Amino acid sequence: MVGFGFDVHRLAEGESLVLAGVTIPSPIGTVAHSDGDVVLHALVDALLGALALGDIGEHFPDSDPQWKGASSDRFVRHAVDLVRNAGCRIVNVDATLVLESPKILPYKEQMRANIAEMCGLPLERVAMKATTSERIGYVGRKEGVHAYVICEVQPL
Ligand code: MG
Repeated sequence: MVGFGFDVHRLAEGESLVLAGVTIPSPIGTVAHSDGDVVLHALVDALLGALALGDIGEHFPDSDPQWKGASSDRFVRHAVDLVRNAGCRIVNVDATLVLESPKILPYKEQMRANIAEMCGLPLERVAMKATTSERIGYVGRKEGVHAYVICEVQPL
């Protein structure tokens, strides 16, 4: 089965920027109830999507105070457990981050390693890609950040 996830967060000055579990030095960061990690939020929706298990908002409502400032790896680990409890394994993860700045290249390998560890996958089964929005639209104006993740899940 294939799962797809998408997430977007607003960017604002003075907020922290955490992407795929890496805290990146930046004057702007994501506005969010949790840590605002768009990559991990899209990953959670991809994992849930593969098994039609709902979406991140159903599992971790932002009205619930226990998720305030939560590290998003907790959401991923919960989704990975749900996949395993359904008798399945994750085959691979392919993520794309769309962000105007800062440049993601220095952090990509750490992001990839973080996702691999959370999903229990070898590095070669995790792709982490980044692109800008060519200064077009709200991502291009540094008002927001997008992430897209696709994954394959197989019955054991
Ligand atoms: Mg989100």
